[in-house]
Amino acid sequence: MSTRREFLSTTAAAIALSASNAEAAPAEPWYRRTTRWGQTNITEKDPVRYDIPWWREFWKRTQVQGVIINAGGIVAYYPSKYPLQHRAEFLGERDLYGELTKAAHEDGLVVIARMDSNRTTEDFFKAHPDWFTRDHAGNPYRVDDKYVTCVNGPYYDEYLPAVLTEIIERSHPEGFADNSWSGLNRDSICYCANCARKFHDKTGAALPTQHNWSDPLYRQWIDWNYARRIEVWDLNNRATKAAGGPDCLWFGMNSGSVSSQSRSFRDCKAIFGRAEMVFLDHQSRSAAGFEENADTGKLVHGVLGWDRLAPESMAMYEAGRNSFRLASKPAVEARMWMIEGFAGGINPWWHHIGAFNEDRRMYQTAEPVMKWYAANERYLINRKPLANVGVVWSQRNTDFYGRDHAADLTDAPYRGFVSALMRWRIPYVPVHIDSIASESKNLKVLILPNIAAMSDAQCAAIARFVADGGALIATGCTSLYDENGDPRKDYGLANLFGAHFIGTPGAEKTWATQNQHTYLRLDDQRHAVLKGFEETAILPYGGSLAALGLDNGTTVPLTFIPPFPVLPPETAWMRTPKTDIPGLILNKGVVFLPADLDRRYAREPLPDYAYLLSNLVQWAAKGALPLEVQGAGVFDCNLYTQPGRVIAHFVNLTATGRMPIDELIPVGPLKIGIRVPDGITVRRARMLVSNRSVACAVSKGWARIEIPSITDHEVVVIE
Ligand SMILES: [Zn+2]
Repeated sequence: MSTRREFLSTTAAAIALSASNAEAAPAEPWYRRTTRWGQTNITEKDPVRYDIPWWREFWKRTQVQGVIINAGGIVAYYPSKYPLQHRAEFLGERDLYGELTKAAHEDGLVVIARMDSNRTTEDFFKAHPDWFTRDHAGNPYRVDDKYVTCVNGPYYDEYLPAVLTEIIERSHPEGFADNSWSGLNRDSICYCANCARKFHDKTGAALPTQHNWSDPLYRQWIDWNYARRIEVWDLNNRATKAAGGPDCLWFGMNSGSVSSQSRSFRDCKAIFGRAEMVFLDHQSRSAAGFEENADTGKLVHGVLGWDRLAPESMAMYEAGRNSFRLASKPAVEARMWMIEGFAGGINPWWHHIGAFNEDRRMYQTAEPVMKWYAANERYLINRKPLANVGVVWSQRNTDFYGRDHAADLTDAPYRGFVSALMRWRIPYVPVHIDSIASESKNLKVLILPNIAAMSDAQCAAIARFVADGGALIATGCTSLYDENGDPRKDYGLANLFGAHFIGTPGAEKTWATQNQHTYLRLDDQRHAVLKGFEETAILPYGGSLAALGLDNGTTVPLTFIPPFPVLPPETAWMRTPKTDIPGLILNKGVVFLPADLDRRYAREPLPDYAYLLSNLVQWAAKGALPLEVQGAGVFDCNLYTQPGRVIAHFVNLTATGRMPIDELIPVGPLKIGIRVPDGITVRRARMLVSNRSVACAVSKGWARIEIPSITDHEVVVIE
């Protein structure tokens, strides 16, 4: 570990930077300049053991500029004039929230008051039974001993705005973040009187009685729920601005996972598009790996804008398959999650549960990372991606095609494709499906990973991208469904694909979750996209495919080999060695891959899947990719530009599959080539983690450097 070396080498720069920040501060509102955050999530026990001087020292030590302090909602940490707001069990008459806010303000920190508006204790329910969610039988929805509030009732319309106003009048926080603000999730329909009335006013109909995605009324219920969450967002912001001034903003916490946002009726495009900053609640990795956090950062900034901030709550306690709120997460696991966030433009925010912890190792984790960030943050924010490969995402597709099986139908194809790009060091940006026109000037290749549900307008936007010279790669059953998830007669993009659907829509949904003993046969002509597979005539597949109608002039480099037995071994021979069923179709510059290799790669990381996907992108890009990396290891590579410079971030993910990791393994050397954009003159290159300069040769528009070794990550600034 290089903690001490980093500390010594970066302290001077950090001091210089905080001085310049202080000078710049008055010109910018807090949400434009508060880049480093910390949160001690207060438990009900803490009012009798919160050592405020110790935490003030910790704020200083970790160089935070803003803190998130529990105020109200489920539990109030101040003596509220609203008696039903449940006071923390050990609070007594103390105003812990107010004391902490005062201390933080004295230390020059921004304060975000934390709310949790999702549920209350039983006495509240008894006092206002009509403010709470109800199932079809009229019983209240509960989580353990708490009652779930309804977003359509006076609790949200009147009570919460009054609580926000009270908190502002008492302590003047800069803003609010609500942990669980969007009410009952999609799995449960609320039948309370307020929901019934409002839904009837909107649609003239009664609330749907079941989760039936084919029922137009259920679809209206989905859209109506999304719209209400946006109303709540705007309503709360009106309340906080009215009481606290134009910069006193309210934020709901958001997940980095689109399908998780879908289950909570949080419209990523609408929310990230209207927010001044985004507070992310995405505390640690899932099975997808650390790279998930860089992807989240890029996805959020793609809508929010790269000039805005997106801090993310990062757990310092063990948050894996089991949560151990009071045990330290292995420091390197927490560190790598933070670093991958930085690679996608996310700002750091350490998060501890409880003000007193017996496992004090957790208090060592954030400090070196925060200090490195503080010293180098000018290279980590306010920058633009240099990637020219875009991977399209669509929350509408997640909802209306993915429905109740989004993990398999929509998440896995996206995750598999971006994992393949990461494995082959191809920088990419997530692109929202309705932003293609505005993003297209930066993009050479657009990837549609099983974007099945598409409107006619979205299909037309893709066609324009291709007509303007862009290369398209579409997988699975992209464009086979309309925006409601109803099947079309043919692909909406059939003319681009040179392929026509002649099978049974919906069969692919079953195949998506199966593992079949199937293969793909490589055509004898050996198109360039099959480079590297010279020594094999087949590839493992695992999915299923059906016949398609093909236009003249298409090329089919891969065909389907139908299933045959695995066991006993004596039976494992191909019954049908060759078919005409296409697995891959090339039509001029368009690549259509009905074989769901992206999903397969997410399910099981067979190297052939990723290699073929990478070949497709290389071929489609016609040599225009901006990065070449030689050397062993798994690296997430991201490229950005600022005026006059290129910033390249390499995160070493070699052997990080085990979760949590407990050691970092240095890998190198890496020989790196970066295509320098027009207008940038290269004079020098520096490495921000090693904290030294590196030789940089420039030839024919490429800057070439060699990094001897990377332990966790390296950021190279070429300018
Ligand atoms: Zn309701």
